[in-house]
Formats: sequence, structure tokens, C-alpha cells
Amino acid sequence: MRTYWNSTVTIKRRKIARRRLSTHQNVSSIGKPIKTSKTGKKRANSSIKKVSIKKLEKKLQKYLYPLIKQRDGNRCISCEKTITEKRNHHAGHYAKAELCNLVWRYAEKNINTQCGSCNLWKRGNTLSYRRGMIKKYGEEYVKYLDSHYNEPLPLEFNPRLYLESLIYHYERCDSLDRT
Ligand SMILES: [Zn+2]
Repeated sequence: MRTYWNSTVTIKRRKIARRRLSTHQNVSSIGKPIKTSKTGKKRANSSIKKVSIKKLEKKLQKYLYPLIKQRDGNRCISCEKTITEKRNHHAGHYAKAELCNLVWRYAEKNINTQCGSCNLWKRGNTLSYRRGMIKKYGEEYVKYLDSHYNEPLPLEFNPRLYLESLIYHYERCDSLDRT
């Protein structure tokens, strides 16, 4: 015969099991549990899980930046000094990466060889960078860049597709045009 204590335990166990079912598993109309995370969100199928934009940008930088350095050689665009150490050889943005729209952020001409001192310590050495840009690409182009780098992109612009197409391109690219 079941004692009062035993039946209480059984009821408690049933309650816990029901609670687990309701918080971690939803039951579909045909009675099969739908797997969800602890927060209740449906788990994304790992095979179709999308790579984050950040990771795509990292991947793009891995292919693009060495090409920029190869194009420009070891001369800093802003102070014009020769870069002797590899760790000082940077790919620096003229219009700051975080302020640019995605197109200008990875525009080849907006990124040029810079020494670590100009890129990091002098925060881009902006005035000298501009002078170097004008010398390299012409004033008209620099003025165009100045007025367009943070323009909003069209609504139909797809950042993921854009980044993937650039990755595809630069992954197979041997060298960049110098002008
Ligand atoms: Zn420099």
C-alpha cells in the first residue's frame, strides 16, 4: 500500500516533469516534442546557420589587407617613411572604417599602407593621410570620397551577399591595380 509520503513524492515528480516539458520542450500538434533552447527559442539548424557579418568582415580583411600592402609596398601614405618591420606594416583607412558604410569600408582606395605609428598612435594621421591621398589618387577623388563615405546604402543592399562576393573576388585575386 502506498503511503502518503510516497504519493506526495510521485505528485512532485510529475509536476517537475511537466514543468520541464513546458519550459524546454513544446509539444507539437501531433504530440512530438519540438526542440527549443532554454530560452524557448527554436534551435537553428546548424547546417543552415549563417556566418555572422563580423566573421565575414574578418575573412574579407584576411584576403584584402595583404593585397593592399602588396600594392603599396612599404611606404607609409601619411608620413612617407619606409616601414622596416612587418608588425609596423598596417592597412589603414583614410575615412575611418567604423564611420564608413560597408561599400566604402572595403573600397581599395580608402585603405592604404600606413606605419603603425601613424595608424595607431597618431589616430590615422588624418591631415597627412589626406595629403598622401591627393598625391596618389587626385583631389577630385578625395573630395568625392569625403562626401560619400558614410552615405546610407539603398534598402535593397544586402551586406551578407556583398561581403561574400568580395571574399570570393579577393580570395582569387593575385594583385590590385595601383591606381
Ligand atoms: Zn606613417
